Amino acid sequence: MDKILFISHTEENGGLSEHALEVLTAAAELANATSSELTIGLFGGSTAAAVKQISGTVFTVEGAEFAVPRYATDAAAAEAIVNAAQATVVVAPGDSRMMRFLSGVAARLNGKVDAHITSITAGAEISLNRWYYRQRMQAEIKRSARPWFFAVESGIFQPCKSAGAAQVKALNVSLSPALTRTTVQGVKAPQSGEQTIKPDAKLLFVAGAGWTKKQKDGQTHVPEAADLILGFIKKAGASLGSSKSLVDLQGEGQQVLPFMTHLNQVGQTGSTPRHPKGLAACCHGEEPHVVGWRFINERRAISLDANCGWAQGKADVLYVADAFEVIKEVNRLLANFNSNSTEPPNTHR
Ligand SMILES: Cc1cc2nc3c(=O)[nH]c(=O)nc-3n(C[C@H](O)[C@H](O)[C@H](O)COP(=O)(O)OP(=O)(O)OC[C@H]3O[C@@H](n4cnc5c(N)ncnc54)[C@H](O)[C@@H]3O)c2cc1C
Repeated sequence: MDKILFISHTEENGGLSEHALEVLTAAAELANATSSELTIGLFGGSTAAAVKQISGTVFTVEGAEFAVPRYATDAAAAEAIVNAAQATVVVAPGDSRMMRFLSGVAARLNGKVDAHITSITAGAEISLNRWYYRQRMQAEIKRSARPWFFAVESGIFQPCKSAGAAQVKALNVSLSPALTRTTVQGVKAPQSGEQTIKPDAKLLFVAGAGWTKKQKDGQTHVPEAADLILGFIKKAGASLGSSKSLVDLQGEGQQVLPFMTHLNQVGQTGSTPRHPKGLAACCHGEEPHVVGWRFINERRAISLDANCGWAQGKADVLYVADAFEVIKEVNRLLANFNSNSTEPPNTHR
């Protein structure tokens, strides 16, 4: 029988991220389905807040040296935890900090590692799924090798709500000077201005190049487009995506939306975000763009072109309409709605 370990770093406040709590659910479900023992491993500057969020047997490694995302100290902490738990299956959130060192620890312990896992099934044996080739092919992975490490994607499982009694076993990990030779100087965030990418949002709003094109009066209306788009994502609590054509305009010297970068780009050469719903406006819905909508469940689009890609089986609903007019009216309705509502807007749609 496997011994399953959920392992994660803690955040600056000592707690677990939403992603980590989701993957804890996955680990707990796996332990349940295989009638295996589940233990939890936490490391970071402090772990007290995380311990309050969970229950069960918890191995911790904490201290100032473990506060920063450094390969050598993270790997040393994880190795100590995996050994203490005698884990044969190690389940981790696939965030950038865990992904940096997880394969190194797997190699050290003579194990195997898989990443970008999107589902876990447990029958006679454990089987994992991940996507390849921009979400066009899905692989099923089974392994007899142990310890088996895997990093799970976000937005798939419900965050674990199992705060209760935790039995904490604090581990001492001694660090030689070589392990702290690398210093972490700070964080360089890709976007310094408006925070438009929100992975936890219920809705993805995708803007296409049409927002910057000449409209029926023969003029472009880029500042108005910027106000409408930002107004909508703020009021609806939506995440902002873009087509490639819109973000490429910057390099072509055309008037652009200042808050839009290539990080917003959805599609074959962009991202494949996960949101329950999506709304595209002024976007043509071509295949290289829509392939990035693989994990958007309910899809709607607004385009002037009744023959655009969305109309050809790529969206559930296409509004053949002027997006400037539609979004202006929707923003007006949302402003009224929000002023009468005590709940956050994106829980309603
Ligand atoms: C190898 C490869 C990889 C690619 N990867 C990506 C990718 O990752 N992501 C991506 O997006 N694309 C990608 N593309 C490009 C993709 O094929 C399209 O060219 C791109 O998505 C088109 O962007 P768009 O729909 O915003 O612009 P357009 O095709 O210019 O469409 C603009 C739309 O806006 C509509 N419109 C204009 N004004 C209004 C209005 N007032 N109201 C409503 N509608 C209006 C027009 O009718 C039109 O349908 C890739 C292409 C290749 C070859």
